[in-house]
Amino acid sequence: MEKTEIIQLATPAIQKLQPYQPGKPISELERELGLEEIIKLASNENPLGTNPKVQAVIQENLTELTRYPDGNGFELKRALAQKLNVDVEQITLGNGSNDVLDLIARTFLTTESEALFSEYAFAVYPISTQAVGAMAAISPAGRGESWMKYGHDLDAMAARINEKTGVIFVANPNNPTGTWFGKQQLESFLNVIPSHVIIVLDEAYFEYVKDSDYPDATRYLAQYPNLIVTRTFSKAHGLAGLRVGYSLSSAEIADLLNRVRQPFNVNSLALLAAEVALNDDAYLEETRRLNGQGVKQLTEALTQQGFNVIPSAGNFICVDFGKPAMPLYEALLKKGVIVRPLANYGLPNHLRISIGSEYENQFFINALASLAT
Ligand SMILES: *Cc1c(COP(=O)(O)O)cnc(C)c1O
Repeated sequence: MEKTEIIQLATPAIQKLQPYQPGKPISELERELGLEEIIKLASNENPLGTNPKVQAVIQENLTELTRYPDGNGFELKRALAQKLNVDVEQITLGNGSNDVLDLIARTFLTTESEALFSEYAFAVYPISTQAVGAMAAISPAGRGESWMKYGHDLDAMAARINEKTGVIFVANPNNPTGTWFGKQQLESFLNVIPSHVIIVLDEAYFEYVKDSDYPDATRYLAQYPNLIVTRTFSKAHGLAGLRVGYSLSSAEIADLLNRVRQPFNVNSLALLAAEVALNDDAYLEETRRLNGQGVKQLTEALTQQGFNVIPSAGNFICVDFGKPAMPLYEALLKKGVIVRPLANYGLPNHLRISIGSEYENQFFINALASLAT
């Protein structure tokens, strides 16, 4: 059989699906350019390094790998319930929160329904939507003069809801823009969403946000049985490589997601590591401190070099270079710096730069300065 025939065997939606473009791995750039030193600021990873307590628990359990993990994630769910003040029955564990987003799409979308999300929103929403053959409705980002023009326009999103809308994906803060919204905006939004629509509030960067007006969406779970809050251990907790995330929702929604979930979707080392990471306040505190410093360091340097930095509540910044940024991305690669181009998000003049260690940030700043024309 020829390749062209094979592709026709896939569902029409999958035939048209564009795969996710991850940040370039360090090993790949190493192979391509043979550089000695490479700095990766491309995937919003935690620059603090693997938590030693996580390393210890993994070492201790390396002899248990013949066993299947606990498919119910009993211990991790119990720890989460205690920490977040929710019931165990409200938690769904995922192989990263990306897994949970997929479960939501498979559970609540059909080929007849629509998922709604914002322009410049996280790239996984269209993929999860299209993979199940549902339609994507894209609401324009915030308008106006301020940086908020890149953020979600919740009023516009609410106005776009129709009888086909099955799921709304909202990221707060959003990746790749770093934009966020406050309590009042969220409450007004939740109030106008019809009860037949599932609202997903993606809080992947929850632990990083400093703004006291930032809403903790778990507070609204009791009032809105159609609300799902997703969070992850990949970002502030520093476990991106292990793949653990979760959602909090009504017990009814969790029950549905659990029916679709692979029985052993979170591996045994990840379950143990997440439990340790969850309760390591010192690691989280240091992560936040380092991030706050890094945001300041990068914002000041980039502003000084004349570039426009969108204010960010996450562990990354989105920078407007005022002209197509792909050549700059390529030139930075040659200097050993990997950042993230955003043309596939409809932001061809922007790059997303993850916050690294002070040294990594400076390495990037120097590389950029040496390229400035
Ligand atoms: C990184 C990210 C996620 C998911 O990451 P996982 O590693 O799959 O948990 C989800 N949403 C947003 C907005 C993200 O940036």
